[in-house]
Amino acid sequence: MAKGHHYGRTQTRGYTTEHYRVSAKVFKSLITAPIGDYCLNGDFLSAEHQKLKLTELSNGVRLMTFIINSKPHQIALKLDNSSASNKLYITCPYCQSKRQHLYVIKAAYVCRECLNLHYASQSERPQERLARRIRKLRKELWGFDWPEINNMFQNIEHWPKPKWIRWKTFNQKMNKIAILEKQYWPMAITQMKTTLGDHFMANYNN
Ligand SMILES: [Zn+2]
Repeated sequence: MAKGHHYGRTQTRGYTTEHYRVSAKVFKSLITAPIGDYCLNGDFLSAEHQKLKLTELSNGVRLMTFIINSKPHQIALKLDNSSASNKLYITCPYCQSKRQHLYVIKAAYVCRECLNLHYASQSERPQERLARRIRKLRKELWGFDWPEINNMFQNIEHWPKPKWIRWKTFNQKMNKIAILEKQYWPMAITQMKTTLGDHFMANYNN
């Protein structure tokens, strides 16, 4: 077995098992609790990871704001209305994806993917970097609440113009994202093939 490969995999597992995490369900009562300041219990949490301010946006979405290392970390509480269970998700302050868990690192709360990026950013694959850039530009136009904002399988072609922006500026920004998305797909497909290939090889060897 190639030494480097084995090392990498072991390390990736380590990132998540070595970190404390908080579950979305811990925050369930905050869906109906009064707006205000709260404190999260947990010996493994720093004082900054414990203190949160609960607010509500005009669209009804509730936000928890933690000030960690002088930087606001906003985590939205999102009920999944598509299932009968009404499962609660919390959003990652970095990529805004909906999560059941966030991991505790020294200066932040992050999702599993962002945790891995945090430790492995040096080896970040080019298409992951590009996807991150595309998502960031999308959020600047449509906001992190737009339903398909993180979904790379959706292209932005028919997404509406936000009211606040002029058509000319909007078209420029749209074009920029469209160009990046065109670059993204050939890279992603190559990566998917490689990943599936590795997976089948691993099973075969076992
Ligand atoms: Zn994240």
